Amino acid sequence: MSYLRSLSRRQHVWLAATLLSMIAIVAAGWILEPEPDEAAAVSLTLEMSIRQIAPALGTTGLALAKELDLPRSVAKDKPLGELGIDPQQFDEVVAHLLSHRPTVLKYYVFTALTLFGLVWLMRLGRPDGSPVAERKTWYPRWPYLAALTVAVGLCGFALGKSPNPMEGAVKLLKGMVGLQPSIPAVVWAFVFFIALAVVGNKLICGWACPFGALQELLYSLPLLKRIKRRKLPFALTNLIRGGLFVLMVLLLFGLVGGKKGYVVYHFMNPFNLFALRFETLSILLTVIIALGLALAVYRPFCQLICPFGFVSWLAERLSLVRVRIDHSRCNTCGACARACPLSAAADKIEGKHFGADCYSCARCLNVCPQEAIAYRSVFAPPSDRPA
Ligand code: SF4
Ligand code: SF4
Repeated sequence: MSYLRSLSRRQHVWLAATLLSMIAIVAAGWILEPEPDEAAAVSLTLEMSIRQIAPALGTTGLALAKELDLPRSVAKDKPLGELGIDPQQFDEVVAHLLSHRPTVLKYYVFTALTLFGLVWLMRLGRPDGSPVAERKTWYPRWPYLAALTVAVGLCGFALGKSPNPMEGAVKLLKGMVGLQPSIPAVVWAFVFFIALAVVGNKLICGWACPFGALQELLYSLPLLKRIKRRKLPFALTNLIRGGLFVLMVLLLFGLVGGKKGYVVYHFMNPFNLFALRFETLSILLTVIIALGLALAVYRPFCQLICPFGFVSWLAERLSLVRVRIDHSRCNTCGACARACPLSAAADKIEGKHFGADCYSCARCLNVCPQEAIAYRSVFAPPSDRPA
């Protein structure tokens, strides 16, 4: 733990205050978590109507009808048994909708992990007074890997599928076609996730999203290093990701396909992994392919599919704290571009306004011989080192 010993007294105070704040945030979430209302779900039967069942599952009548493969115009007061629903289909739909019930605690864990990422990147990664010759010791990987492990374990497997950033983006749109029971709730969730992407550049994706973290951990394994040097062209990956998002909107609003309420991401939602429920073969294949590819390709699901990845890429333009290059110091040696698993650092050197996503992974922050790169507020000068 030589890194911890190398931190200044002020940094130790920052570290202690951050860890205490994280504990307080998670404890608050623990206290505020409502009691689960499983009893209501257990007592649901086929003798009940859509109108009676939907509120108990935290959904709308339209959404429940869709899950049951019934038309939107189906009689919502008729018992489900009379609508031809069999017990097995009913049980599967109930289990699926229950897996979407968000835990309040998870919002607090997301906040705590994001806070840690922000403080680590801004105050703790580089020991105070450490000269540039020691830059290889800056930003050691283990605190990041520890945070990612917590994200996978706690925000993923322990607390289940919902909420998650991808769902935050999709539910907002579903709410516009009557598939969500509470518009304020979906707007709040979306604003929450976007805020955590804006406070520090895509911090929620880089540090707290459980599926993003799982891909990052797999990519961090010291395997297939030659393949990792090749990067997917951002123009192509973003075209696929953005195209899928536009297609989703067109299908959801019934502008294409004539099936209003159809959610294409439902068939490729890898967050099902954390509920250990793969309702369709396509979901299982999405998880297997994304995690298999993640051994060699940086965050393939985030780059190619995730709707929140796309939306937060747009929101990155507003990020208050981010990787910044001091162009007066940068000699375009390309060290950060080589360290970056995407073309984000190269795009920053070129000054592109709509460059590739940056996941705040810190790989570029300990390679620059010119001290031209730092994780800083957009309101501060790009570098505080003497010129
Ligand atoms: S882009 Fe990746 S990290 Fe971000 S929400 Fe989607 S899956 Fe998670
Ligand atoms: S290495 Fe790339 S993705 Fe990671 S923080 Fe730097 S610019 Fe962002």
